[in-house]
Amino acid sequence: SASVRITHRGGLHARPAALVRKTAQGFSSQSQLHFAGKSASCASLIGLMGLGIGEQDEVQVTCLGKDCDAALQALVAALSVTTHEHEQAPVIVTARPLNTEAGVLQGVCAAPGLVCGPLLRLHTIELPQDPGNHMREEQLQHLDSALEQVRGEIRNTLEHARQRKAVEEEEIFAAHLALLEDPTLLEAATAAIEHGSAATHAWRDAIQAQCAVLLGLGKPLFAERANDLRDLQQRVLRALLGEAWQFQMPAGAIVVAHELTPSDLLQLSAQNAAGICMAEGGATSHVAILARGKGMPCVVALGSAVLEVPQGQRVVLDAGNGRLELTPDDARHAQVHQIREAQQQRRQQQQAQAQAAASTLDGVGIEVAANVASSSEAQIALANGADGVGLLRTEFLFVDRRTAPDEQEQRQAYQAVLDAMGDKSVIIRTIDVGGDKQLDYLPLPAEANPVLGLRGIRMAQVRPELLDQQLRALLQVCPLQRCRILLPMVSEVDELLHIRQRLDQLCAELELTQRPELGVMIEVPAAALMAEQLAEHADFLSIGTNDLSQYTLAMDRDHAGLAARVDALHPALLRLIAQTCIGAAKHGRWVGVCGALASDPLATPVLVGLGVRELSVSPPQIAEIKDRVRHLDAAQCRQLSQGLLDLSSARAVRQACQHHWPLS
Ligand code: PEP
Ligand code: MG
Repeated sequence: SASVRITHRGGLHARPAALVRKTAQGFSSQSQLHFAGKSASCASLIGLMGLGIGEQDEVQVTCLGKDCDAALQALVAALSVTTHEHEQAPVIVTARPLNTEAGVLQGVCAAPGLVCGPLLRLHTIELPQDPGNHMREEQLQHLDSALEQVRGEIRNTLEHARQRKAVEEEEIFAAHLALLEDPTLLEAATAAIEHGSAATHAWRDAIQAQCAVLLGLGKPLFAERANDLRDLQQRVLRALLGEAWQFQMPAGAIVVAHELTPSDLLQLSAQNAAGICMAEGGATSHVAILARGKGMPCVVALGSAVLEVPQGQRVVLDAGNGRLELTPDDARHAQVHQIREAQQQRRQQQQAQAQAAASTLDGVGIEVAANVASSSEAQIALANGADGVGLLRTEFLFVDRRTAPDEQEQRQAYQAVLDAMGDKSVIIRTIDVGGDKQLDYLPLPAEANPVLGLRGIRMAQVRPELLDQQLRALLQVCPLQRCRILLPMVSEVDELLHIRQRLDQLCAELELTQRPELGVMIEVPAAALMAEQLAEHADFLSIGTNDLSQYTLAMDRDHAGLAARVDALHPALLRLIAQTCIGAAKHGRWVGVCGALASDPLATPVLVGLGVRELSVSPPQIAEIKDRVRHLDAAQCRQLSQGLLDLSSARAVRQACQHHWPLS
């Protein structure tokens, strides 16, 4: 047995609990977690969640069986890592803001957008009283086949998510699949059937009992997971009742419900709902994450009044501002249509120009490249007009597997990205694990402060054979001139010199006459302050604003409570970006930005003004960022951005940007 402190954000809720369960499944030993006088088997997701383990809680793990040592080690690693959170900053919900405007309900934005349409209220399935005394065998079989049907549906959803690389969607439904196989639920439902219950009622009661446990823990993140259980309740009930799973709704409806579930959302999106509103729910819920991923406007926490709006009433959902307008007049409707048409037209125009290179009005060329995690994303990026790949995060190429990729497999994966990009160049970052990014096949020792520990290039210093293998694979891609290598988390010149030397040795071993360009990520303040010295030996610099914000502001980039303040437009970061560009220019090197700030159109003029010449953005943003560049005067950007360095906060910088370079 061992004791571990939980570092998963928000504690051991559905997704981290699913990781623990998956890890335990890889061993024959029986494993259990013990916390606050209660115990749960690692085979049961519900049991694990029911322990109510919060972030920073200390738990005991016990393993019993032939491979208990290995199981214990793997479980300790799984419990002490932080799950990778995604680039999009979570929206924080505290309390429902008050809005006293007549005819307007105020909630909280979970996914922005402005839409209008008829309102459609969805109801959950209500079961009649159960007369009891059912045939045990028949009901068990009913439940079995309903469960199998839903499992099949979820596996399909998972497969589609996997193909689209929709990581969050995949994680959410993988947790649903695990819940559906949960022994606690199945045992409770089976026991009720043994006592004469109908399969429908047995399933509903088993779910409701577990929902009550989660709600009783008094922790919001766990309470939100009760919604995932209700999702499975509805799905299995629909299968048991033989209901075709399709909502009766006109396309373009704005759907209202007490609370929607993740699978409702996917179905509503497939049926072209215009937007969704919920009386309850939180913006960190799985439904909210999915809505943002689908670009479907969504407002949560509108209160029960939203459930009383008559069916079919025409409403306007201004999700960005968390507003549901209940009685918009014809003029407001016309205005919403006009705004949407103008947005669509603008998007089409931008898309039509996306393949052309972008320069400012005064002729400064800005390369707009893409951040990708796979060759299929690279294909999408090229189709969207990417001038190249500005960041391939190689650690995401081989997630979800228990064995490390060998040299040959890595070479093929990198080659596939190069092939997908036509004749454009591809910047490939060496593996960046540690901190918030973990790989199943590469368990790292638990550290008190993993974000300040062995991550990025530092990991390669303790496991040099891993970096050697990756560099060798990279040196074998063809044509090598299109491949540039980028090093993450560099904080001093010696790190760069050491790897440059190693790269030269490997080139000699492989009888290569030319080595690929080697760049350095600027993502810790030390690197920005030393940009001039780094640029002397690097071919280019690429600023990772995600980590640079975290380390400059001393705010965890995944901290939900600080999300609104981890803003890369903070003047301190702008000063570091300016210093990086000045340092690079002394040696004639170019500077790019590959952190999320590059995808923010409000920041484009500032970055261009400070001297950045490459922006690596998420593929759907390419057209918009190129369009933004084409409307800028670089000389004016240079002059105005200097003034921003003296402002006092990120908020002041954002206001000034809006003033100088308004976003229409
Ligand atoms: C960054 O830190 O800005 C960056 C691009 O790297 P990652 O988000 O992968 O840490
Ligand atoms: Mg980073």
